[in-house]
Amino acid sequence: MLEQSNSRTIRVVKDTYTNVEALLREKNPDHPVYCIYPHVYEASTREFVEGFVGRVLFAVKANNHPKILQVLQQGSVQHFDCASMAEIELVAANCPDSTLYFMNPVRFAGDARIAQQEYGVRHFVVDDLSGLGALLAEIDAANAVIFARIAVSHESATQDLSCKFGAAVDDIPTIIAAIAANGAEPAVAFNVGTSVKSPEAYAYAIGIARDVLRKLPMQIRLLDIGGGFPTIYPDFSAPAIKEFIDRANEAGKSLPLSPDGELMAEPGRALSSSGMSTVTRVLLRKPDSIYLNDGLYGSFWELTANGHLEYPLRVFRQGQPLTGETKPFTVYGPTCDSADVMPTALDLPIDITVGDHIEFGTTGAYSLSGRTDFNGFYSDTIVTLSDTESFPPRIGD
Ligand SMILES: *Cc1c(COP(=O)(O)O)cnc(C)c1O
Repeated sequence: MLEQSNSRTIRVVKDTYTNVEALLREKNPDHPVYCIYPHVYEASTREFVEGFVGRVLFAVKANNHPKILQVLQQGSVQHFDCASMAEIELVAANCPDSTLYFMNPVRFAGDARIAQQEYGVRHFVVDDLSGLGALLAEIDAANAVIFARIAVSHESATQDLSCKFGAAVDDIPTIIAAIAANGAEPAVAFNVGTSVKSPEAYAYAIGIARDVLRKLPMQIRLLDIGGGFPTIYPDFSAPAIKEFIDRANEAGKSLPLSPDGELMAEPGRALSSSGMSTVTRVLLRKPDSIYLNDGLYGSFWELTANGHLEYPLRVFRQGQPLTGETKPFTVYGPTCDSADVMPTALDLPIDITVGDHIEFGTTGAYSLSGRTDFNGFYSDTIVTLSDTESFPPRIGD
């Protein structure tokens, strides 16, 4: 990265450090720094791509940072689930030779045409007949796979997405018939929710899809089981990802798909969360509270939305771990809005002070992709950490 400084000399801005301690010692950052642990991404993507029997699409909305997209592609993700033209352009620019999917029933007029003609997109999704009509008016149906999305909900999903998208099971045969009659390949999709707590949710939803497939007059080649695979946070526990993948693989075996049939999955959180952390700095200390340089309008916005209120954390002073006795602190973000506060008190060293840094781990999902520049606070500093440590430590590290 090159940066123009006022003296018109060009200095190289380092974007790789050995580890967090080295980053803090060498850069002593005032602004939030997002840290990539490439070996963690390598391991988490490999686990999913090798473990799941079908095609793995990364749901771009979970983390749309160009560097993260590149790291995921290096980590063997070749398919990207995009929801908008902007996401399609972003992936096309950063992940050459990847396959792009336009998997949102809601699109601007004309975007499906551009996606197909200019970006080679072949896969689309609808959940009603009016949306199908609009899509068919734009694309070459003979060169398209159109998914009919079923509304499926399971009590173990932290956020139930079926209340927004998806057609009732009874309406799917009509939509599938219309897709086929217009010359496109029909397929079926569902999305259970996000931060799903039980592997049974996938078996349950695949069971619903199985019943739908049985009633269709033709065999379907592709069933997309969506995302929702959870990440473990300090206040959110769930079985290991492998159990979800195994359960989905198992349930998928009994599907009446065509002989060349294939499952697809769209993990967002599971692929992007664990390989990134957020390094923040304390800007103000009061007796029972601290104010950080990042907050709920920045990369911590998900903490009010998706069922977990915390990330794992560790504290540093001058690049060295700060340990010792702790007590609960209210942790505010830097903006003037009183809603800019971590939803739960965090245990921190009693002598934490201005200038100390806090690294929050597993922040890679639903952080960068939704941060704002509200009140003028925004960081786009992202660095790579090159040694094989990770935070939190991975099992087996
Ligand atoms: C949000 C979303 C995903 C990704 O969800 P995760 O919980 O991050 O895995 C996948 N598919 C669809 C259709 C989505 O809306």
